[in-house]
Amino acid sequence: MLFKKLTSILCCLSLLLISLGSCRLKDDNNTKKEAEPQYAIYWDMFDTKSVIYSYANDSKSEFESNHKAVALLLGEYHKLFDIYYKYSGINNLKTVNDKAGIEPVKVDEKIIDFLLYAKEIYALTNGKTNIAMGSVLKLWHNCREDANDDPAIYRLPDAAALTEAGKHCNIDDMIIDKEAGTVYLRDPDMRLDVGALGKGYATEKAAELLIAKGVTSYVLNIGGNIRMIGEKPSCKGWVTGITNPNKDSDESLITKINVKSTSVVTSGNYERFYTVDGVDYHHIIDPSTLMPANYFSSISIITPNSALADALSTALFCMSYEDGLALVNSIGGVDVIWVDLEYNMKSTPGISFID
Ligand code: ADP
Ligand code: MG
Repeated sequence: MLFKKLTSILCCLSLLLISLGSCRLKDDNNTKKEAEPQYAIYWDMFDTKSVIYSYANDSKSEFESNHKAVALLLGEYHKLFDIYYKYSGINNLKTVNDKAGIEPVKVDEKIIDFLLYAKEIYALTNGKTNIAMGSVLKLWHNCREDANDDPAIYRLPDAAALTEAGKHCNIDDMIIDKEAGTVYLRDPDMRLDVGALGKGYATEKAAELLIAKGVTSYVLNIGGNIRMIGEKPSCKGWVTGITNPNKDSDESLITKINVKSTSVVTSGNYERFYTVDGVDYHHIIDPSTLMPANYFSSISIITPNSALADALSTALFCMSYEDGLALVNSIGGVDVIWVDLEYNMKSTPGISFID
């Protein structure tokens, strides 16, 4: 699957926390507690836990129709973006990878649009978020999976194999023919891996669907990728906690922020990693070194578009604070919380911290 189940569940549980009951709705007697949100949980999208919350005053049947529509859409993206499994009647990204160097693959328009967006992201992030790095990521993924299955089997990827795989990550070798509706990886040794971007992109499409239906006061938490639509009716936003990347700390959150009509997406070195000779090797790979990026413990991006937030959380994880700040300033409308390797925090000025 796109993301392995156990690690994804852990990641999802450790990620972001929405405060559900921290403010009160005044009624005539000024005593009634705010109504609990309606919510639906799904486990079959992107191999992670997805929760759809409604704080709106919609009826049970309206909510059911909305969350089912979201689940249907996310399920569709899940299948299309899967690089591990095939599904009958669908050409997905596994099909595209399997046909690398062989032939173009006719795909759903959703894949074409996504891959075009991924190319834009590559350019925007100076190649730091590169979905064409699949051959490199696979080497790390295999070592991590082996170690997770049996901690006695711990090893780093072979250095020569990494160098060789690093020669097959040129996103220009992904040939997209929008007219014909095809994708062709012309480098036979190139592979796509959309783990950095796919979940956020699909989340944004789900948010677009809900917004088009006219909903307000909804929250999507797709494996920790949080997308808020509107604001909580009784307060001016939602309280969202940012996970403390310090695994040894008793504090599960490093900070809390107040947010509305936006996304909060975090990439961290504590989410998926394995240990070799006492050193942790995590899952976000710096394209410049082909090694786990070593600038920060976590990066949280706050910006409305969940796809952009997901793309930037990975990209800024792979660059210095100065480069990250210059990048988000050039984009505009993006806030960031950087937590460095000593757990010191820096942030952009637009964030409303609680405390
Ligand atoms: P998470 O998936 O834990 O939310 P990210 O959004 O940062 O975190 O995505 C990490 C995943 O993206 C990795 O598991 C891997 O599949 C892929 N990946 C890692 N490094 C890069 C990179 N530099 N560019 C593109 N994809 C990457
Ligand atoms: Mg990301």
